Amino acid sequence: MDVVYTSTRDKSVRISASQAILKGLSDDGGLFVPTALPRLDRTPEEFATMDYRGVALEVMKLLLSDFTEEELRSCIDKAYDEKFDTDEIAPLSEAKGRYFLELYHGKTIAFKDMALSILPHLMITAARKNHVTSEIVILTATSGDTGKAALAGFADVHGTKIIVFYPKNGVSPIQERQMVTQKGDNTFVFGIRGNFDDAQSGVKKIFSDKALAGAMKAAGCQFSSANSINIGRLVPQIVYYVYAYSRLVANGRIKAGDKVNFVVPTGNFGNILAAFYAKQMGLPVNRLVCASNSNKVLCDFFHTGEYDRNREFILTTSPSMDILISSNLERLIYWISGEDATRTKAFMDQLATSGKYAITPDMRERLADFYGNYATEEEDAAEIRRLFDDAGYLIDTHTAVASAVYDKYVKETGDSTPSVIASTASPFKFTRSVLQAIRPGEELSGDDLDLADELSKISGVPVPKAVSELRSAAVRHTSVVDADRMEEAVEKTLGL
Ligand SMILES: *Cc1c(COP(=O)(O)O)cnc(C)c1O
Repeated sequence: MDVVYTSTRDKSVRISASQAILKGLSDDGGLFVPTALPRLDRTPEEFATMDYRGVALEVMKLLLSDFTEEELRSCIDKAYDEKFDTDEIAPLSEAKGRYFLELYHGKTIAFKDMALSILPHLMITAARKNHVTSEIVILTATSGDTGKAALAGFADVHGTKIIVFYPKNGVSPIQERQMVTQKGDNTFVFGIRGNFDDAQSGVKKIFSDKALAGAMKAAGCQFSSANSINIGRLVPQIVYYVYAYSRLVANGRIKAGDKVNFVVPTGNFGNILAAFYAKQMGLPVNRLVCASNSNKVLCDFFHTGEYDRNREFILTTSPSMDILISSNLERLIYWISGEDATRTKAFMDQLATSGKYAITPDMRERLADFYGNYATEEEDAAEIRRLFDDAGYLIDTHTAVASAVYDKYVKETGDSTPSVIASTASPFKFTRSVLQAIRPGEELSGDDLDLADELSKISGVPVPKAVSELRSAAVRHTSVVDADRMEEAVEKTLGL
């Protein structure tokens, strides 16, 4: 089946997967979505015999149907190699009666590596297929993890430049250090005076600036995105849900066809949307548990049907989820509207002008797959402590949001379906918060890198290379700009 992509805001758009990856965002401001989701054409038993790369090929060839199998295999082999510290790529651990799908064994120790290790290869291949000769400029807003993963993926990739904007005071010290020490002549990093939503809105604005696009074209370059608005991010994320399911079958934890729940710590709604797509493609999934931190706009949306971003932006210990405008929700809105681009556009226009919109009762009925709740800072820390004390298993602050929300879900519903929690970052990326959770009330001395040693000592888990190498890494990026001067920074960087 040939999968064609359209825009959530304009039904007349019809492009191939490779074109959608190259463009990132539709000209009308909409997100690219497949016009129909293909069905998985392997049985769970067949998937159970495959390794990560094998599952990736089977899933990705369905959705990226204009890539040849050769091309995809080459991208997959380059992405999921020894950059990951385990050949399993995404190992499944069991603790406290639930499974943790560890998505943080890649180069930058957050789940963003799962998609951003392969995106540069997909993009280069897509450029070649479409005879694109201009330089591709990757523009990325980050709440902390996407930035580093994208920088690592695109650094020194011929024919590309990458520009990253992060909220100067909204990321963890280790996240910031990872970004500002990034090597590569084609990498550019800016802190902004503002939060993640400001960074994301700024990037979207730059994307839709027609005059700038013209100047770019004249200079022989074009923009694309490494954010999860890019379908090239989303498709590789579907893979690990199928893989997790197949591991449970392979290990005899479930029978083929049994349902599982996926519990996902959510910010921009990309990760959980991939789980939803996996379900639509036929993976036996029961509920999708959407876990928020104190920025609980999504939790409220699932309870009331109203999305309302008019509220205080709260800086939490799970900064990668500090988001009030969850971009990928647009793809879900499109789906529950009956793939109605006109209606979707109207909701998104309301969001842009008044900061809120309310969906209709018929749309709400189509959200039955989802359960939304949130965890407070106290609940988050308590969950880290409980898992460590009771099960000897160390999780990070984002994963803890999911684990704490899962407890609420079970208490509320009594659902005993086997459940997989998306474990999205290494605890060593958020050492101070994790250590503080384990040792409440204790005065922690030293910087986050010193604390990494401490965390290693008490947990027995070695400090990941991604953290230890930061000690000696030179700072290369020091620019900070106002949120409304991002476009200027881009023009300067590109010499326009
Ligand atoms: C990005 C991120 C999330 C949120 O994922 P979304 O796809 O934006 O919902 C959660 N945890 C960590 C550690 C992240 O880096």
